[in-house]
Amino acid sequence: MKPIESLILQMPKADLHVHLDGSLRPQTFLELADQHGVEVPANCEADLFKTIFKEKYVDLEDYLRGFAFTCAVLADEEAIERVAYELCVDSLADGVYYLEIRFAPQLFASPQADIVAVLKAAANGIQRAETEWQTEKSRPNSKLSPEERSKPPFRAALIACALRFFKPAFSQWFAQYFDHYPEESDSAIFARASLDLVQDCLRARDQGIPIVGIDLAGVEQGYEAKDHSLAFGLAHQAELGITLHAGEAAGPASIHQALTDCHAQRLGHATWVFGSKWRQPVAPYSPRPVSNPLVEELIAKNIGIEVCLTSNLQTLPEIKDLKHHPLTAMMEQGMAVTLCSDNLLMSRTTLSGEYLRAQKNWQWSSDTLHQLTWRAFEQSFFPGTPAEKTTFLRAIRRFSTSLNQDAEKK
Ligand SMILES: [Zn+2]
Repeated sequence: MKPIESLILQMPKADLHVHLDGSLRPQTFLELADQHGVEVPANCEADLFKTIFKEKYVDLEDYLRGFAFTCAVLADEEAIERVAYELCVDSLADGVYYLEIRFAPQLFASPQADIVAVLKAAANGIQRAETEWQTEKSRPNSKLSPEERSKPPFRAALIACALRFFKPAFSQWFAQYFDHYPEESDSAIFARASLDLVQDCLRARDQGIPIVGIDLAGVEQGYEAKDHSLAFGLAHQAELGITLHAGEAAGPASIHQALTDCHAQRLGHATWVFGSKWRQPVAPYSPRPVSNPLVEELIAKNIGIEVCLTSNLQTLPEIKDLKHHPLTAMMEQGMAVTLCSDNLLMSRTTLSGEYLRAQKNWQWSSDTLHQLTWRAFEQSFFPGTPAEKTTFLRAIRRFSTSLNQDAEKK
């Protein structure tokens, strides 16, 4: 392994944007499909990578096809707990010490398991991974080396995704809305479901489930964030963290709505923040001296930008390669960028893989790498008091400093 690769793997990282239903282990996916009788066009990992979870996708629609399969195999609370646990374990092995796992619990809720029960299942998986790591580190006859035992604690939390758009076929839970409110418009139903979700998340938080934030996901074009302003207003009042997928499949107006109507503290992607039109070829970005009020607002409010490079390349055909990605321009303008993985399975990536990809393309120095990884910890919606967050960040900083000192000695 080259020194830079080993540095990236070793350095403590935080992943603020990773979807549970996009991040199953391939083998687990196959086992769960078998267990729950879900038909998939593959019976080994190699076939799976040819048919569903590919290296390249035609477009967003092709990319999203995989979610129908992953949602089907996440058929009960046991499956959700298992996948959350495995995602934590795999992330830790990748040097990720803090994880915010997001998913839409409404897709998995049923009369047998309501939203809180579904969130609880994921939380159980997280807790198992946190406790195992902590126990192994502190056990007197631990199999870990002294070096490994000096590593920081591992923490993870949940973000619930409200959906901009859904149909009755999406899940039993969503179907209820169309049965109960046949007179209501679709947008009123979507708004109602988001408000219910926030209320359920607050109930879950009261029960000690580490739910730290709310997200808005799903079809962005034509389904506006402002329709969900009541739900996000409540989340804001109740101090849930707020992040929205915005500026991925629509332009700056969508980002503007996320900020003004939904109190966004972070944004998923924000790829079109500089104003390129959807589905138009884009020129390579360069930082512009002209004033851009939206960008200025993002900087002034220190809005975290969750950039997922591999996912963007796979779902946005107009970004042909990283030369055309706005990440560098975002950084040069002073936006609070973090790197995230989005979907470990759909994008066939890891967080280290994302950093490595960026480092190779833009020849980042270790200072830049440290800056970006640290920012992700700072931007986290940590599940605890501010004092607990400070203690955790100190442990991360100590470990990071010790890595630097070791590197300098070599
Ligand atoms: Zn996402």
